[in-house]
Formats: sequence, structure tokens, C-alpha cells
Amino acid sequence: MTEALAAKQPSAANQPAPPLTIGVLALQGAYDAHVTTLAALGANPRLVRVPKELDGLDGLIMPGGESTTMLKFLDRNGFFDILQAFVKTTPTFGTCAGAILLATGVESPAQRSLAALDITVERNAYGRQIDSTILTAETALPGGPLEMVFIRAPRITQTGPAVETLATRDGHATLVRSGHLMAATFHPELSHDPRVHQLFLDLARVHRKKSSVRL
Ligand code: GLN
Repeated sequence: MTEALAAKQPSAANQPAPPLTIGVLALQGAYDAHVTTLAALGANPRLVRVPKELDGLDGLIMPGGESTTMLKFLDRNGFFDILQAFVKTTPTFGTCAGAILLATGVESPAQRSLAALDITVERNAYGRQIDSTILTAETALPGGPLEMVFIRAPRITQTGPAVETLATRDGHATLVRSGHLMAATFHPELSHDPRVHQLFLDLARVHRKKSSVRL
């Protein structure tokens, strides 16, 4: 390389970090609003409908919806086993039904799960659809009270020792983080507040840095 050319090459330190590619599981449920929020935060969202679409992702959001129906879709193409291996190593954020899929324990009624995040959840714990609620409360996130939209939400009844609770409702965790995993029992994509998604993007970026150092 000539000296003139070398001078034109920006140093790695000056280059903006490439956007994170974040998958949104799109088998069923409320996935569109996650795509909008991720794009607004500068990430590169990608809908995931088949196992192959997990390739190369920096993180994955599993949306709210109906976890039983999602499980039925996951039983096709060996998707369940592939997703279970994926969430063991790659940043994943489960919201509502997605949190139920991530939990190690699911009750009321019990059902199979990916069993990746050390929490126990009680499904539909706050009553039927009519009991869906919007709550605004202080959380561990800076920036003031957070709006939390609960729709036939599960309740987190137990958290393992490594699980950090970032928000609560009636003394039960509603937003948790543990290593590369996050879960919310509410729908952050339905509020015009990007802080929860930003937290997940920060987690995914830290994880990407760690992975590249290991290479
Ligand atoms: N009640 C649903 C379930 O058990 C979750 C509701 C939601 O995701 N909004 O899967």
C-alpha cells in the first residue's frame, strides 16, 4: 500500500460500530412493533420464521403472543432444538409469551420451554384478557418511570441467584436480566419508550465484543 493510500484508510478505532443484526421471532404474535423499535434505535432487524434465519444474528427477540401456539410452530423442522441451542449462547430477549418460552419453569398450566433463563413463571397470572393493565412505575432503568403494558401476562414467581431484577409489579419481577438473556412480562414494544430495547442492544453489543475478543 502506498503512503497516500494508507493515509486514506480510517483506523479501526475511528470507524462507527456496524449495526447489530437482531432477529425477531415471527411465528405468531406481536412481532411488528419490535421491528419498528429496533430500526428506530439503529439496529438491523430481521424476521425469523425458519431455523436458517437465526444464522449470523447478534441477538433475538421472542415476542408476546400465545406461547402454546408458538410451541406448535417450533415443533416443525426441528426448530425447537435449534432455538434451544441458539438461546444458550446468543443474546435473547423474551417478552411475555417469549419470556414463558425462555423460563426454566412454567406453571398454570405447566408446559414445555427452552429452559434457558432461571425463572419460574405462572401463566395468565393476572386474570383474563379484560384484566390487561398499563402500569407506570420507577424501575432500575435511569430516565424516570417506565410504562409497562401487561396483556394476559405471566407472573415471575421465582428467580435464580444469578438473575437480576430490573422492574417489579406487586413485588414480583417484571423485567429481568441474566448473562446474555433478558425477559419482560410486559410489552415494551407497545410503549413509546425505547429504553428496554436499548438495554437489550447494549447487552448484545457487549456480548459481540466479548465473542470477537475470544476469536
Ligand atoms: N398468555 C400468553 C401465554 O401464555 C402470553 C400473553 C402475551 O404474550 N401477551 O402464552
